Amino acid sequence: MARQSRIHGVSGRDAGDPTGALLQVDNVSLEYRTPERVVRATHRVSFDLHEADRFVLLGPSGCGKSTLLKAIGGFIAPVEGEIRLDGHRVTAPGPDRIVVFQEFDQLPPWKTVMQNVMFPLLASRTLGRKEAAERALHYLDKVGLAAFADVHPHQLSGGMKQRVAIARALAMQPRVLLMDEPFAALDALTRRKMQEELLELWDDVRFTLLFVTHSIEEALVVGNRIALLSPHPGRMRAEINSHDFTLASQGGVEFQAAAQRLHNMLFEAPVEPRQERLVA
Ligand code: ADP
Ligand code: MG
Repeated sequence: MARQSRIHGVSGRDAGDPTGALLQVDNVSLEYRTPERVVRATHRVSFDLHEADRFVLLGPSGCGKSTLLKAIGGFIAPVEGEIRLDGHRVTAPGPDRIVVFQEFDQLPPWKTVMQNVMFPLLASRTLGRKEAAERALHYLDKVGLAAFADVHPHQLSGGMKQRVAIARALAMQPRVLLMDEPFAALDALTRRKMQEELLELWDDVRFTLLFVTHSIEEALVVGNRIALLSPHPGRMRAEINSHDFTLASQGGVEFQAAAQRLHNMLFEAPVEPRQERLVA
């Protein structure tokens, strides 16, 4: 790997936080509680996102990636630690954090593509109808789907549905775009194409991205920084700079060496403490 040092944001530092971090996940532990037991999903996880980062959370299934996104989304509260956006503690969902999910059914089927993209803009009273339509069309154009504005989701391929979901999220102009394994259900070729398009879109729009995946290759391609999480319960194992890798470097010697290193780090798991405990 070319460089190992932590890279801090270079552009657009926000006045809200003295460190310049846009999003801070600070020592965050997350738990699910049932009457019988408590499941710890993440244990004291910390990382910072800066403006225009493409930050990837990489870890095996069940290590708490989706749970972390839910907490950043404001849907669940940490039992320990704090999440801050522009220096303010996250306590509830808000239009400044939008999630794109893996599932193709995240678009209501009775709405057209255009209506789907406009819906959050109208529901959140971000824009009036005319402005919402203009903005929706702008972002549909950016994902190459302006010509499909009037069709319904069932007329689209899986990749096209994910493009609509991305356009809908970007149209809200969130402070951070959260993506939870958005390409995992796509076939390999479409997935690669979508990664390519996402990077082009980022080049164009320069949004801040927090991207979750369990694929090492996808993490290296999509991310400029990668946080590696240990198996359940998720803890930070390492933070890696992956700035130098693109789709073009996939298959190259350096890329493969980096992928192998990540693979080793993911699988040489130290003995973890108990993952569950009984409620006292
Ligand atoms: P990942 O997205 O990395 O695959 P998740 O965040 O979905 O992992 O899950 C982390 C851990 O929390 C897993 O062990 C999972 O079984 C557990 N978990 C997830 N959702 C719930 C829930 N609603 N109730 C209880 N445990 C849950
Ligand atoms: Mg998940």
